[in-house]
Amino acid sequence: MWNYPIPYELLKSSEYIVLANKDHLLDSDYIPQDLVKLTVRKISSDPIQMRQAASDALTTLFDAAKEDGIYLYAHSGYRSYRTQNTMYYNRLKKNNGKDDGVVAYPGSSDHQTGLGIDVINKSGIGKKFTSAFANTKEGKWIAEHCWDYGFIIRYQKDKEDLTQIIYEPWHLRYVGVEVSRYIHQMNYCLEEFTDEWQRVVYEYEH
Ligand SMILES: [Zn+2]
Repeated sequence: MWNYPIPYELLKSSEYIVLANKDHLLDSDYIPQDLVKLTVRKISSDPIQMRQAASDALTTLFDAAKEDGIYLYAHSGYRSYRTQNTMYYNRLKKNNGKDDGVVAYPGSSDHQTGLGIDVINKSGIGKKFTSAFANTKEGKWIAEHCWDYGFIIRYQKDKEDLTQIIYEPWHLRYVGVEVSRYIHQMNYCLEEFTDEWQRVVYEYEH
């Protein structure tokens, strides 16, 4: 009997619940095949890519925010393994060879999935990201509503020991709406959700 709130078939087939972190590295040649250019408002004219479903959901989210008088800006989306690798080693060089955790290890970045996106407000353009974004009206709107559009806040404040990433109220991650609502309801991070659903599936199959 399957009595988990998310359908078995969805968990087995969803491409949107992929986990990327230090313990689950994506392959160096992992490139999502359905990347598209975002059509939402951006911080500059430079193109930003995400997977098709994530881009569509982000457009819906930006439109809903606008209806509430909230103007969001996309900052960075898909990042290739190669770009992440360059960023990581540049950071190491700058930091006398020490990994200070600011730039994710190659293969561990949520941005390589094509489902992660940094979203900021107008006053944040050109500035360093800080957790103070959570206290802006745009940050508050995101925290309240992103779940209804298939997104989660990937790196939560009270989950830093599990994600091994500092609180990032600007980093949204598309997982699909069934999963985002469940994760929100349970107050999980993606690591906790992954542990749970994989255990439930294993027990069901054995
Ligand atoms: Zn990010």
